[in-house]
Amino acid sequence: MTEDISSQLFDTVIGRLKTGGGRMTKKRKVLLNALLTFDRPASAEEIRERADLNQSDLVTVYRNLETFENIGMLQRVPLENGTQLFELTAPNEHYHHLICRECHKAERLDLCVSKAVIGQAEAHGYTQIAHIMEVYGLCGKCEGISRQAYA
Ligand SMILES: [Zn+2]
Ligand SMILES: [Zn+2]
Repeated sequence: MTEDISSQLFDTVIGRLKTGGGRMTKKRKVLLNALLTFDRPASAEEIRERADLNQSDLVTVYRNLETFENIGMLQRVPLENGTQLFELTAPNEHYHHLICRECHKAERLDLCVSKAVIGQAEAHGYTQIAHIMEVYGLCGKCEGISRQAYA
């Protein structure tokens, strides 16, 4: 992430925490700084490690990540195996990813199915519509490895 976007996101999180009645605790601050260093969705374990919070339990990490999610600054990226990755996003933004099911590399896709999805959901009488879409496969690197293994 560029420094500009990073400091912008940082300020937005602080502002939203304030209006949401939350506080920027020391732990939230190191977690937020760790999140800002990733240019891809990361697991709670990876975020904890980069935040140098290995002495904290994962439940605490999850709880603080949930706080960022509640103020609309964090997107959860579900994996096929039921675990999740996390990505810091600007308010009202979301991304779809192409995720390798072996190495869990997640790349942003330059598309959104919003129009089609909202049209269909509204036709069913739904409001406040949200959607999640992630695409899973095997990246070129992992495909090469599995081919070698079975050769
Ligand atoms: Zn891969
Ligand atoms: Zn979308």
